[in-house]
Amino acid sequence: MKNKKTAKIITGVLIFLAVCIIAGFVVGDIFGKKAEKSETFGIAMGTVVSTKLFSYGDASSQCNDINKLIGELENEISWREENSAVSLLNKNSSVACDEKLKDIFDKASEVSALSSGAFDITVGKLTTLWNIGEENARVPSDKEIKEALKYVDYSGVKTENGKISLKKGQFVDLGAVGKGLACDRVREYLKNTDVKGAVISVGGSVLLYGNAERKKPWTVAVRDPRGESGDYMGVLTLQECCISTSGDYERILEKDGKTYHHIIDPKTGYPSDSGLISVTVVSDSGFLSDALSTACFVLGEEEGKKLLEKYNAEGVFIKNDLSVSVTNGLSDKFSITSDKYTVSGE
Ligand code: AMP
Ligand code: MG
Repeated sequence: MKNKKTAKIITGVLIFLAVCIIAGFVVGDIFGKKAEKSETFGIAMGTVVSTKLFSYGDASSQCNDINKLIGELENEISWREENSAVSLLNKNSSVACDEKLKDIFDKASEVSALSSGAFDITVGKLTTLWNIGEENARVPSDKEIKEALKYVDYSGVKTENGKISLKKGQFVDLGAVGKGLACDRVREYLKNTDVKGAVISVGGSVLLYGNAERKKPWTVAVRDPRGESGDYMGVLTLQECCISTSGDYERILEKDGKTYHHIIDPKTGYPSDSGLISVTVVSDSGFLSDALSTACFVLGEEEGKKLLEKYNAEGVFIKNDLSVSVTNGLSDKFSITSDKYTVSGE
């Protein structure tokens, strides 16, 4: 089991290196010799965290600070951490909250409402039933799914009088926003340092930081959802922002010749089937890029694009016929680099 885990982690690091290497070279060019470069790889939130900094200060200790603060966020919001605020909430249907935690839940409720419930953090009863990506993953019976669905309803989440509360039996899973939130927390930290540029990757979410001194935008690869680990299908050229990808290849369960992925449609209780295999969202906010990529994945291209408009966010949508479409704001910032993919409608 330990070997399996280590192999998974090493694979993760290799994927990251292959996918983000383009960004790395660009950064080196721009910040020149004066800035100290430091790079670390860690594991948090069940994924690889890669921190690449260009700093006029002590970059290696800044990398450590970043790994530490992502670990602290995980301890606060992961339902897997026994004493996290979210675990206490799930256990007692209520937990005291500070403004930061309240803000996370309020923003999540807003995305739920605007996506007509395609994004719903109370999906936890279902995600823990399927457990996709874990050793004990399984295909639940229709009856179990029907029972779990009774507890999936974002309107049951309330944030009042310094408390978050749920309807009895509901279970919150912040897995769809944790990595984007980590990007936001890292950016807050970086603003008070002498770091001049940074590329922080937490699983499927990436923070590009350091516009002020850069003359060129960043270049980021978009993973090929039907390729080998490390393959990419296109590149985005972007200024400082957050980018999150949701894909059907990230966590899977194969059973009786069928493949199930980890993004659940809260209306059916089954892995979503919107015709999309990957959605990448670009936003100023890490939380929103992450929440919206999950929401769009469930909603499908048409409704997903409408949702992105409401948040002034942009996206790359890859359909199961390997056609690709982007929102208007990315039309001159995204290019396909793999022959397998075509521009939608051409
Ligand atoms: P992401 O990879 O960001 O799209 O997030 C997927 C994770 O979010 C899953 O592993 C679940 O923990 C959780 N999740 C699955 N389906 C949903 C959903 N419809 N709304 C909110 N969270 C979800
Ligand atoms: Mg997400």
